[in-house]
Amino acid sequence: MPDPDSTIYDFGIIGAGPSGATAATLLADHFSIFQLDRRPLRSGKHPKARTKPCGGLLTADAQKILTSMGRGIPKHVLVDDQLLIVKIIDFDNQQENDFAGTLFNCDRELFDRWLVSLIPPSVDLRTETIFEGLTKEADGLYHIKFKENKQTKIVKAKKIIGADGAASRVKFRQFKTAPKLPKYIGIEEWFEMPDGNFPAFTIIFDSSITDYYAWLIPKDEFLIVGAALPSDTNTKERFGALKQKLIQHHYPIEKLVKKEGHPILRPRQKEHLFTGDNEIALVGEAAGYICPAFADGYTYALGSGKALANAILQNPKNFQSIYQKNLQPLTKSIRLKNFKMPIWYNVGIRKHIVKLTAVKISK
Ligand SMILES: Cc1cc2nc3c(=O)[nH]c(=O)nc-3n(C[C@H](O)[C@H](O)[C@H](O)COP(=O)(O)OP(=O)(O)OC[C@H]3O[C@@H](n4cnc5c(N)ncnc54)[C@H](O)[C@@H]3O)c2cc1C
Repeated sequence: MPDPDSTIYDFGIIGAGPSGATAATLLADHFSIFQLDRRPLRSGKHPKARTKPCGGLLTADAQKILTSMGRGIPKHVLVDDQLLIVKIIDFDNQQENDFAGTLFNCDRELFDRWLVSLIPPSVDLRTETIFEGLTKEADGLYHIKFKENKQTKIVKAKKIIGADGAASRVKFRQFKTAPKLPKYIGIEEWFEMPDGNFPAFTIIFDSSITDYYAWLIPKDEFLIVGAALPSDTNTKERFGALKQKLIQHHYPIEKLVKKEGHPILRPRQKEHLFTGDNEIALVGEAAGYICPAFADGYTYALGSGKALANAILQNPKNFQSIYQKNLQPLTKSIRLKNFKMPIWYNVGIRKHIVKLTAVKISK
């Protein structure tokens, strides 16, 4: 085992996705921070780079959180098709309806790189670096083990922030009794879309494929076909069945460009949310914070990153209770979304509500 680096950081942040980047940016002026992420979040975009599979849709709530931090959304992170229509295809009830949308359609990698570009240079941020583990040693410090440029290294930090997403290694290695949430696999396949005119974020309900939902999202010259499928089922066959149905309905899915997949959590009860303790805090999806109705995670990642940073700034030693208080609006929003779930996921109720609330689009 290599000797640890002699620097002692106040915080070690594992992950620089939206939650980790937000926390680092807000804490950087007050604490010494070491942060790592396995993605090449600072270099130019290249085709073989590890990316985070994601629809890249920014809801009105996520936009509000950015506004509350004094941020606008730079043009270069947006794709050409901005989506003013949300279409619902309900294969269970054989219905199609349109709604007005307020989503920003982003390039996920560029969005994440933009957030990372806001992290002040005082943060010792290592990208393309893999987190391997964490131990609390006799010196009372956390020793973070990671691999950078094929070399195993160790740095020391007083406290840890686990911002490493749905499959959080920090959570499951450090908290043996951490709650296990209903787990889905988000699969996305990108298809070439030659004529480019597909102006809707399309939500697909089909209970023979998933008890969650599937989606279509245009991204410049591509169309993403995605689905959140229960991870303990035959996900490949179910995704194949979804594509067959779309082909039968004349959706342009012919030339496959890329495939990706990533776990998605679905917090169904209060106990699924778990934010760690006063030494190791969890944030974003690692803490279970994501919308259980439509898997919108940006809102909860940005919001919990901000909630945690403000709590630490108020009381760096004893921040958990303040963090949980700061999280209340997001916690309540998850509870409310669970309460309203039958509107979307009970086939009979959905049939009537969707028809009643849809907007007419004259063409
Ligand atoms: C298919 C799919 C589509 C989605 N679409 C949307 C959408 O359109 N809109 C929306 O709002 N949300 C969407 N989500 C949810 C959203 O992507 C997440 O909830 C959100 O990114 C969570 O942010 P986070 O910072 O908590 O975690 P992540 O964004 O997952 O960031 C975690 C970071 O930790 C790093 N990391 C993890 N493990 C290690 C390790 N061992 N070593 C080094 N680095 C590590 C990862 O590289 C990553 O950068 C989607 C999710 C999926 C899977």
